[in-house]
Amino acid sequence: MRPRPAGYDPNDEDRCRRCGVCCGATDGHPCEHLVRNGKQYRCEIYPYRFGPHKTVTGRHFTCVPVRDVIRTGGGHPGCVYATDE
Ligand code: SF4
Ligand code: SF4
Repeated sequence: MRPRPAGYDPNDEDRCRRCGVCCGATDGHPCEHLVRNGKQYRCEIYPYRFGPHKTVTGRHFTCVPVRDVIRTGGGHPGCVYATDE
């Protein structure tokens, strides 16, 4: 197994509700690395997720920390991290 990159925090995994919203689970353009697990979701490349990826519908995007998405986009009000800032 590759070493986890700097900045990786396993506590983030514990707090996440696994709703998948930040990865496109509800907008019709989920990331190609988003995997459904019953009623929840997981990222199949989580420790190495940051960087360029594609949605299953072919859109290109860059995976960034969800806190950055919330800070710059104001989205995901139901996310556990939305109340951290
Ligand atoms: S690569 Fe990023 S956007 Fe894609 S499933 Fe993983 S965390 Fe979500
Ligand atoms: S929106 Fe928040 S709670 Fe939902 S999967 Fe993303 S980080 Fe986890």
